[in-house]
Amino acid sequence: MHAVTLPRAPRHACRGLLLALVALAAAPPAMTRADGREAPATPVRLVDHVRPLAKAMLERPREAAQVLEGPAVAAMRNDRSPGRTWMARLGGTTFRVTTQDASKVGVEHVLEQVQRLPARYRRCLEIVSEPQKDGVAIYADLQGAAAHGSQDYLNMIPAANVFVVLHEAGHILEQRATSRKPGILARWATAAAADRISVSEYGDSITHEDQAEFALVHGIALDAGPEHLEALKALSPRRFALWEEILALAAAPAPGAAEPPGAPKDRPAKAKAPKG
Ligand SMILES: [Zn+2]
Repeated sequence: MHAVTLPRAPRHACRGLLLALVALAAAPPAMTRADGREAPATPVRLVDHVRPLAKAMLERPREAAQVLEGPAVAAMRNDRSPGRTWMARLGGTTFRVTTQDASKVGVEHVLEQVQRLPARYRRCLEIVSEPQKDGVAIYADLQGAAAHGSQDYLNMIPAANVFVVLHEAGHILEQRATSRKPGILARWATAAAADRISVSEYGDSITHEDQAEFALVHGIALDAGPEHLEALKALSPRRFALWEEILALAAAPAPGAAEPPGAPKDRPAKAKAPKG
């Protein structure tokens, strides 16, 4: 008798992410009790430092993304279900958007969130739009996850916002960097321990989620301005330096530079099969 083979779970099924991100744009927790006395000390995490900046990130005016072509009829890569696909451009970044018909959303829904991405993070859109990939793909349901991100796909549910994209950019860019220089996540674990501060509760679960949550926190600080980036660097210097290295290895453009040396965009990376 054959055992039933269950479909292999994608490597990064970010299940706890959505609730955390909905909470991110909400007001920070009160630090004093109703009676005015100081509340007991609560653990301070990096996400607490950027939480007050998150709402402004959603409200700031943005450069508009443009649809270049589409829609064309498509079969979704996860399950061959019917969908539509477009090519779009945001500044100098060209990328694909694919939506499952059952998701009931189109390209505009995706662009509204994606166009909030800081320029350095847009490299993740190019990576998931390489040949044979769906680009930013929206599914009606991802079995309870908010999103799945790897250098082979960026799948999200319709409710996922720019904070989800920043987190998944962490996975996408780390995998691309690791395919060029192995051992990054082991170094990340060392860096996180040395920094002696948690990124977020969700990040505490496992090293690659700590790293993706740092990408989220860094993206919010980057968008808010240099002083916020400096503050983050002071709080978590070793993660900060390693994330800069990952961005360079993944060929995310440095501020003011067209292309970091030694990391050509056109060199094909070895595609890595998702691991369960
Ligand atoms: Zn994740």
